[in-house]
Amino acid sequence: MLCSVFLMFVFAGVSAQETEQKETRQEGHTNQNKFRQMYQELATPNQYRTASGAPGPAYYQNEADYKMDIVLDDKNSVLTGEETITYHNNSPQDLEYLWVQLDQNIRKKDAPQKDGDGMAPVATPGRFTSNYMEEPFDGGFNIKEVSHDGSPLKYTIHQTMMRIDMPQPLKAGESYTFDINWSYNVNNHVTNRARSGYEYFDKDGNKAYVIAQFFPRMAVYNDVEGWQNYQFWGNGEFALPFGDYEVNITVPADHVMEATGELQNRKEVYSKEMMKRYEQAKKSYDKPVVIVTQEEAEAAEKGFSNKTKTWTYKADMVRDFAFSTSRKFILDMMAVDVMGKDVMAVSVYPKEGNPLWEEWSTRAVASTLKSYSEHTFQYPYHKAVSVHAKNQGMEYPMICWNYGRPDEEGNYSDRTKFGMISVIIHEVGHNFFPMIVNSDERQWGWMDEGINTFVQYVAEQEFGNEYPEAITPLDKYPSRRGAPSKIVPYMKGNQDYISPIMSNPEQVYQLGNNAYGKPATALNILRETIMGRELFDHAFATYSKRWMFKHPTPEDFFRTMEDASSIDLDWFWRGWFYTTDNVDIGIKEVNKYYVTDTPTNAGKEMLKRYGTTPEETKALYVITEEDEEFNEEMKNKSLLENSETLQAYVMDNFTEEERKNLKAPKYFYQVVFEKPGGLVMPIIVELSYADGTSEKVTYPVQIWRKNDKTVSKVIPSDKEITKITLDPDLETADVDVNNNSWPKKEAKNEFEEFKEAAQD
Ligand SMILES: [Zn+2]
Repeated sequence: MLCSVFLMFVFAGVSAQETEQKETRQEGHTNQNKFRQMYQELATPNQYRTASGAPGPAYYQNEADYKMDIVLDDKNSVLTGEETITYHNNSPQDLEYLWVQLDQNIRKKDAPQKDGDGMAPVATPGRFTSNYMEEPFDGGFNIKEVSHDGSPLKYTIHQTMMRIDMPQPLKAGESYTFDINWSYNVNNHVTNRARSGYEYFDKDGNKAYVIAQFFPRMAVYNDVEGWQNYQFWGNGEFALPFGDYEVNITVPADHVMEATGELQNRKEVYSKEMMKRYEQAKKSYDKPVVIVTQEEAEAAEKGFSNKTKTWTYKADMVRDFAFSTSRKFILDMMAVDVMGKDVMAVSVYPKEGNPLWEEWSTRAVASTLKSYSEHTFQYPYHKAVSVHAKNQGMEYPMICWNYGRPDEEGNYSDRTKFGMISVIIHEVGHNFFPMIVNSDERQWGWMDEGINTFVQYVAEQEFGNEYPEAITPLDKYPSRRGAPSKIVPYMKGNQDYISPIMSNPEQVYQLGNNAYGKPATALNILRETIMGRELFDHAFATYSKRWMFKHPTPEDFFRTMEDASSIDLDWFWRGWFYTTDNVDIGIKEVNKYYVTDTPTNAGKEMLKRYGTTPEETKALYVITEEDEEFNEEMKNKSLLENSETLQAYVMDNFTEEERKNLKAPKYFYQVVFEKPGGLVMPIIVELSYADGTSEKVTYPVQIWRKNDKTVSKVIPSDKEITKITLDPDLETADVDVNNNSWPKKEAKNEFEEFKEAAQD
């Protein structure tokens, strides 16, 4: 009987809810609890992909090796290629046909247009002319020949996909070699916004090329999609198998080139002076060494050589190949010690990029390689190249295109500088995701963009620590994405224009927020608030290492993060990745409580439900200042002074020694939290006391597991609480902070909110 007093405290909340449910809820329901396991949403684990999130014993991946001879006709902007593909079928199935991707076909004159359009009251002249006035650009592959051992192969082209019908199926475990000869007209990537093409420089008549998706590439065949032959519509990027490349690229003799892979004939294509500087660069760990100077590049701009030079590259275990070439290029390099291994950080830029590019590009590349390696795995390639291309931010193995250009006088704003450093960190970071952790971008944009934007945020902060002079007078790198508060405007926006992260990139409304900002923020919150850095970093590195040079799926990521940390995260994945719900937790009310021996009506009522009475039960009664049993004197008395029942219990059941250790909190608060937002999150509160001190308390997310709307918490305290603040450091992306404090703050009106937003 004695312990029943305490039992009732504990069960009080539950029994009230139970009664309410009996009265109002009649119909049964399926399990919609936000903490239920994700058996419905996730693919069933199997021999290829295990329940732990690691590759299974039957995991396989097919490979495609390429040998290519590429010729650039600079005058006419035409690229021609002779290509030999050897495809290795490591799958347990025989393949009746092969699918090859023809991404350039998105630029065919008659390519289907995916968007509806309408006449808006305002239009930019550029968009208007390209939509309604210009003749469409005549891009797209001209496929001249598809053959095997000299005999033509049957093939069918549908939009950006080409099916090749082999005379016999390609047996499991066997390889097939075939040739494709092709050419296409290279587009101007500045007027015809694309990831590949040339920029034309009026003043000197030169072009700078950034060339990618330029050759017919094998599609991925795997245990998840079969053939991944979802068309290239422009938003969803690429799904590509790993393979080895040998590529010869012939360009005007006065061009300077960088490309995926190791340059095989450096002595032939570099001058003696360049070779000498290159040898210096290999030993320069603190600053870049200029290999082609601005002066030399400016002289080359005037040459327009009629001779050609062939650059030969080899790359092993890459999923793609890209190159950049121009006679306008300045080239610099420095060595980076990446966890004990020497890697070259390289930059290529026309003079239009200076003075910004000579200052920061190669340093940003070097810093990125170190940061990303620390959080994932040691960067496995021998170099990483940053190419300056107007308006471009695009990634390929070992090489990427980046924007950020000073004005004609060489002046640039902080915005341009940080934009440039950030895009370099981002695109170089893509070497890790998806170039090495080779996810399917065509299906899941967030697996490379979101994960990469998260590591980018971490790497930017580390760059700020490494180069304080770059961020002065700031004390922290001004990251555009990653901090929880930055995603709030998106997450509280119009639900008609928000898609869950788990959506195909072609079908989302705001790709930047959907595939980059929100997943990056979710991972940042996971690291800082939910899992803590130690558990998160270990799990994240485990995922990266498990899937290095492999093809992971979302399940492999979700499962590994749990498997390596012992934290159940199904509620987090479901809420953040599968829904468009947002975080809004508030303080509904706070009450102060006292104890008394005088039976209250509510107390008697409750005892009755347990089949007992005040006389039979030595209970104490909990009241607020509003109850009639309350009198002002109670405020000044201690807990034991207010209840003889409690006093007697303590005397009877504790030794003198034990009694000394009992706490006698003077104040009892019940805080009722409400959750207007759909997402469940831990409750983080800061308690401020009358004596000027404060403390931070976190209640785990599981507090919401039996009630998704409100939950209450009793806070016993020796000190009077004067203020309670929810999420005081803005770490949960709470979309409405008007309900985050007690006593309630005056709600801001719209004008004040506008004023504050404008000041940000
Ligand atoms: Zn990206």
